[in-house]
Amino acid sequence: MAEQLNETLETMYQDVLKRNPGEVEFHQAVREVIECLGPVLVKHPEFKERKIIERICEPERQIIFRVPWQDDKGHVHINRGFRVEFNSALGPYKGGLRFHPSVYLGIIKFLGFEQIFKNSLTGMPIGGGKGGSDFDPKGKSDDEVMRFCQSFITELYRHLGEHTDVPAGDIGVGGREIGYMFGQYKRITNRYEAGVLTGKGLHWGGSLVRTEATGYGATFFVNEMLKARKDSFAGKVCTVSGSGNVAIYTIEKIHQLGGKCVACSDSNGVIYHEKGLDLELIKRLKEVERRRIEDYLTYHKDAKFIKAGNIWEIPCQVAMPSATQNEINGKDAKLLVKNGCIAVGEGANMPTTPEGVKVFLDAKIAYGPGKAANAGGVATSALEMQQNACRDSWTFEYTERKLEDIMIGIHKNCFETAEEYGCPGNYVVGANIHGFIKVANAMVAMGLV
Ligand code: NDP
Repeated sequence: MAEQLNETLETMYQDVLKRNPGEVEFHQAVREVIECLGPVLVKHPEFKERKIIERICEPERQIIFRVPWQDDKGHVHINRGFRVEFNSALGPYKGGLRFHPSVYLGIIKFLGFEQIFKNSLTGMPIGGGKGGSDFDPKGKSDDEVMRFCQSFITELYRHLGEHTDVPAGDIGVGGREIGYMFGQYKRITNRYEAGVLTGKGLHWGGSLVRTEATGYGATFFVNEMLKARKDSFAGKVCTVSGSGNVAIYTIEKIHQLGGKCVACSDSNGVIYHEKGLDLELIKRLKEVERRRIEDYLTYHKDAKFIKAGNIWEIPCQVAMPSATQNEINGKDAKLLVKNGCIAVGEGANMPTTPEGVKVFLDAKIAYGPGKAANAGGVATSALEMQQNACRDSWTFEYTERKLEDIMIGIHKNCFETAEEYGCPGNYVVGANIHGFIKVANAMVAMGLV
């Protein structure tokens, strides 16, 4: 259950509800942040006077557009495209594009709002934004995906630029889609502006480690939380929801750090393999052949597929939700704690409902919220922009070390800020306050814009 807000914050929150009717995920994301900000307004009256919270909750710009495209049979389809340019106090808008049928303005706004604080936590010069479409890439041919991406970017390109707005991937948008969008951007603008999109292919401006970054970063973050409790991944049984980009590289880093991942999933069900997941097979099924996770059974008869199953019912010591928002509710959280879970690191954005978050915080397990734990993806995107700006490319080892240092730094800042504000061990408070203050100070410095 949500905490009580003080009168000032309650008024601000009610205003957000009134101005953004029906956008429930956005409301949830806003509430979670402003619940932590009462003590910040006491220390910084200038934030209240300058209406920083009210301004931060209102995107600088929201773009909604039609995306017409033709399938392989020549039939015409119409989707809706979005880009919410939320806050540019710290740098150009930066945040991924999501292609999924559930996408509507409320989802993009929740993701864009989270992105402001996440990007601030990375310490890199990037503002917050997010975009996407209700287009479903599942079951579409490469040509259909290409035509969609070309139509999408033909409208969006005028709002983008390496110093203005720099999209990347998210659910349903990986290297293939980024390639098609970059190609069309280059064609329309007649500029090889590498820094306009991140997540590019390695031979044309992409950065090593970007593909791995979100999953690796989330695992580094959990490793730091465990270290703070004098513990480690060694021998820990772990579960990771999803089997997309974030999930795959979370599993890989868990295995490298000595943990054993026994379950993952997709939207059809859960794979449970007690002796530990065969990651090379999952990579082949998902990254190369674009198949369903159920096909894992064809190769491992001793694994189980639980159709429409709930992965959080499987006992684990470390849980890393890496699929989508609100995938862990209060009941799931209670079950995880009861079954001996001691750490949760969110690879996905807002995967735990407010009721679930409360269960984790009350149980005092190590709980790393998405905006801190999964910031490694966007941080490495910023490293890609750095390499593009100086026409350089760094080695895997160097880039991974930079990513790990960034995650260690984010953990330290969240940990120390939580202590400073009287909530030791509470990374939600630490992440929200630390992320907010940096943006707020920049907004005050830049005047009323
Ligand atoms: P992918 O599209 O690569 O993978 C998503 C995975 O989650 C798939 O296995 C998918 O299953 C599953 N999934 C998606 N939606 C649902 C749903 N509604 N119910 C059940 N399963 C679902 O996306 P990513 O791995 O890139 O993203 C996963 C999460 O991580 C998202 O919350 C995203 O916002 C977050 N994130 C991603 C970053 C990145 O760098 N990619 C950076 C920071 C956060 P199926 O194939 O069956 O749909």
